[in-house]
Amino acid sequence: MSATAAAREALHAVDDPEYPGLSIVDLGLVEEVSERDGEIVVGLIPTFSGCPALHMIANDVVEALQTRPEILRCRVEWLPAPVWSTDRLSELGRQRLARDYTVVLRRKDGTLRCPVCGSDAVHDQSMAGPTRCRSIAWCDSCRNPVEVMR
Ligand SMILES: [Zn+2]
Repeated sequence: MSATAAAREALHAVDDPEYPGLSIVDLGLVEEVSERDGEIVVGLIPTFSGCPALHMIANDVVEALQTRPEILRCRVEWLPAPVWSTDRLSELGRQRLARDYTVVLRRKDGTLRCPVCGSDAVHDQSMAGPTRCRSIAWCDSCRNPVEVMR
């Protein structure tokens, strides 16, 4: 296996620290994997600039890649573009967020659907969520709090 293929495989095992069980690949953070002068460079896109998890993610990526014998040296580059959006989430990523974390994505028209009961009666409660990446909404139908990924 080539070093870049080994790196791509290893990245699938790197979970986002805020969402254990959900890989950074499914979250759409991985933009490119390249080899430059024998070094593997992983280009990542931050979900939201300033998220405190970024440093942890970079460390986890380097640790995961170092376990592969094909990879001698590696590093992470945070790319300024393209900008992360919820469109980058894989189908599996969306399903896991809704099922395991009751996290929903805002639709293009700005509305929300409850990941617990499927109702559209979800309204924003506060703009201050647990992190700057997320806000809290409330489902009027099943009375569950819902996290909204921005
Ligand atoms: Zn609901």
